[in-house]
Amino acid sequence: MVIGVPKEIKNNENRVALTPAGVTELRKYGHTVYVQVNAGVSSGFEDAEYIASGAQMLPTIEEVYGIAEMIMKVKEPIASEYNLIKENQLLFTYFHFASSEELTNAMLERGAVCLAYETVERPDRSLPLLVPMSEVAGRMAVQEGAKYLEKPLKGRGILLGGVPGVKPANVLVLGGGIVGTQAAKMAAGLGAHVTIMDVSLPRLRYLSDIMPPNVDTMMSNEYNIRAMVKECDLIIGAVLIPGAKAPHLVTRDMLKLMRSGTVLVDVAVDQGGCIETCHPTTHEDPTFIIDDVVHYCVANMPGAVPYTSTVALTNATLPYALQLANKGWQQACRDNMDLQLGLNVVEGKVVYAGVAEAFGLPL
Ligand code: NAD
Repeated sequence: MVIGVPKEIKNNENRVALTPAGVTELRKYGHTVYVQVNAGVSSGFEDAEYIASGAQMLPTIEEVYGIAEMIMKVKEPIASEYNLIKENQLLFTYFHFASSEELTNAMLERGAVCLAYETVERPDRSLPLLVPMSEVAGRMAVQEGAKYLEKPLKGRGILLGGVPGVKPANVLVLGGGIVGTQAAKMAAGLGAHVTIMDVSLPRLRYLSDIMPPNVDTMMSNEYNIRAMVKECDLIIGAVLIPGAKAPHLVTRDMLKLMRSGTVLVDVAVDQGGCIETCHPTTHEDPTFIIDDVVHYCVANMPGAVPYTSTVALTNATLPYALQLANKGWQQACRDNMDLQLGLNVVEGKVVYAGVAEAFGLPL
């Protein structure tokens, strides 16, 4: 198969859909890979590395779309790319169709085959192409939290791990899923005293078994949260209710109970946030302060660490890309239900229930 990897053109997107390691794998099976010049540079991969792995470089995005049977991307195509997409061309990328009718209509009109990373699903209902970004965001939440706890950045001026003779910081993690687990591990590794809250008792039992001794588990409810916020230095929001907005677990009035310089990192901000006073911020201007409490609410945290995010994402996408390239999308989707669930738009028809429902379209 002929595979094309364009350079991402969405604002502030530094990731790339395929690394030189991925090119090597695809070449091993006899596929041809075209990569746009400079596509990997922002993630730390030079053109020379792609060439050494067997890729052919093309100077323009038009040439990449023009030649490829399968386009591998990170973000959904933006308006300037719509006209480049060909009938029956396979696009394998994040789409998030339900949030954009314009994008959905454009893909229907182009007659493309859109396989969306975010709906590829394992039999246990996990989403293998979303997990790596949650892992990145969870680990990063602690790094950012530690930074904004520093006094010059308006935090309490407390070191997460303390030092001998000085107590460590208290970290509260709301939600013990992928993001919360990674955040708790990182904070515990730095020596903080960590509490994870979740509503799932089986999940709390599991976390209690696997976490180090400086991590406690607690049932998530308003009474416990209200009691905890008074003595926390860093609170990380990592809740998810699939298909719904995040519940506001930390309410406006709770800010008054917190100590001055407490830091809130709401990773769930992309689903509306689980801290009432949060609104989405950017890497250029990541924080704001209300009642002396620092709020960090960047909606695309992995964007700040494109090397790690690119490698983590492509580790997860490559096995699927290989199946698509080796068998063609029809056979690959027949053989593997994970991939079949990734199909959202096929040759002018919406085939994913959530997207059809969002826009009142027939399935
Ligand atoms: P997940 O499904 O693995 O975990 C969510 C957890 O929240 C589950 O364990 C669930 O039981 C728990 N939960 C549900 N209701 C709760 C409540 N009331 N109190 C406490 N816990 C509750 O999800 P995840 O992959 O960890 O993602 C968490 C959030 O992070 C999502 O909103 C996701 O979109 C977001 N995210 C944001 C970024 C970013 O850059 N900001 C990046 C990746 C993920």
